[in-house]
Amino acid sequence: MLDLTYATPAPKVIAGAKSDWELVIGMEIHAQVASNSKLFSGASTQVGAEPNANVSFVDCAMPGMLPVINEFCVEQAVRTGLGLKAAIHLRSAFDRKNYFYPDLPQGYQISQLYHPIVGEGEVLVEMGPGVARKVRIERIHLEQDAGKSIHDMDPAMSFVDFNRTGVALMEIVSRPDIRGPEEAAAYVAKLRQILRYLGTCDGNMQNGNLRADVNVSVCRPGQYEKYQASGDFSHLGTRCEIKNMNSLRFIQQAIDYEARRQIAIVEDGGTVTQETRLYDPDKGETRSMRSKEEAHDYRYFPDPDLLPLEIEQAWVDGIAATMPELPDAKKARFMADYGLTDYDANVLTAELDSGAFFEAVAKGRDGKIAANWVINELFGRLNREGQSVATSPVSAAQLGGVLDLIAKGEISGKMAKDLFEILWTEGGDPAEQAARHGMKQVTDMGAIEAALDALIAANPDQVAKAKVNAKLAGWFTGQVLKATGGKANPAAVNALVAQKLGL
Ligand code: ADP
Ligand code: MG
Repeated sequence: MLDLTYATPAPKVIAGAKSDWELVIGMEIHAQVASNSKLFSGASTQVGAEPNANVSFVDCAMPGMLPVINEFCVEQAVRTGLGLKAAIHLRSAFDRKNYFYPDLPQGYQISQLYHPIVGEGEVLVEMGPGVARKVRIERIHLEQDAGKSIHDMDPAMSFVDFNRTGVALMEIVSRPDIRGPEEAAAYVAKLRQILRYLGTCDGNMQNGNLRADVNVSVCRPGQYEKYQASGDFSHLGTRCEIKNMNSLRFIQQAIDYEARRQIAIVEDGGTVTQETRLYDPDKGETRSMRSKEEAHDYRYFPDPDLLPLEIEQAWVDGIAATMPELPDAKKARFMADYGLTDYDANVLTAELDSGAFFEAVAKGRDGKIAANWVINELFGRLNREGQSVATSPVSAAQLGGVLDLIAKGEISGKMAKDLFEILWTEGGDPAEQAARHGMKQVTDMGAIEAALDALIAANPDQVAKAKVNAKLAGWFTGQVLKATGGKANPAAVNALVAQKLGL
């Protein structure tokens, strides 16, 4: 496999009025576990159900109800940990995080503060060909989602929908290793890609199935390196946390705004207050939501309803044995095995089904040509039509058939594009469709030769010019192609012209 080594990107620097500042960003990503039922109950997680249709007695905290751990959700968290090259903790435990909110019937959220199921891992975030940031993962813990309060359905009343209450979330906490807005967005995108490859979260950001709390601070150049060397956070600035972001564009805007806000405060002689903020996309600014709460505010304690979670190494090994090929490995393999460029390999590994489609087309064929056709013709067309690989009217087998006709010299590149169009609208077998539409390159060299001989005999002055300047031999090729209605193979004609003129 291709061994890719990466250079580290420079951190984003913002020039303040008085000095330069660097950004430091750490993220807490809430990823909804892909599972049909909730973390501690058998209720369905289906989206789009009637409000309060997916609520069991446990979810709405009826007296005497006890939570029962969903083994599949645990498996999904372990699979995620393995996918992020993280330590899996064979013993973890659940804690109660106590707070009141109308969408939280228990009056507490079951989470894992002291003993998370997954420990340290890493994510490679590519910022360009050969340039990547390694973002360390601190931990992943399992926790329950809350419900949803609805305030805009009635002028006098609020409603609450508990369908989401108790759905399993993985909170994926990074170290503050992200150094700019673009890196932050790229980090979320990469994590989303890995989760989708693993099948542990669908990554649907619009539905809030993947959302990020973004912690931002600013520091003077050199301070981050001191933090890294010592692990001492006092070298860094005070952070603010921007809650609940579910758009890559807004994440970048919010970070940029927040960094500049903090720089202005510090340069003005003030201090940044650690707090939780919200981003308002309409105004393009963050505003204070509440002062930062500390762990002790939540009166965390081990949940007495749940025994510590103990899993066995053999079970973890069993999950490890079924891991799919992940994006980094697939990209390296595509570059090594098919000779793809960094860019093409990125495009073709962005989604699992893109990679599978490409490999089906490329199998036994020229990888670069296959990549070209899949990316430029197929994906280009799918994008324009608002379609996806899953709904592609042209299958991998059909596209492969088109490439075979080109490779055999039966159709030209131009004809292949027309054939692609026919397959897109009419379907059918590529060879049959090509024949039916009279797409056949003239490969009868005898006819081509006769046409060329006639041209040479009739145009002695063109022959003389071409002998002086070989480029002018192109005139003969053009004439022959014209005479054969564009159906001759241009490369073959070129070769014949050169041979006949003795070039
Ligand atoms: P909490 O859970 O109370 O928000 P954590 O210690 O778990 O606190 O940190 C939350 C996130 O904040 C982590 O992703 C961490 O990397 C990040 N973080 C910590 N310090 C800073 C800082 N100075 N600047 C930016 N991010 C930070
Ligand atoms: Mg936090």
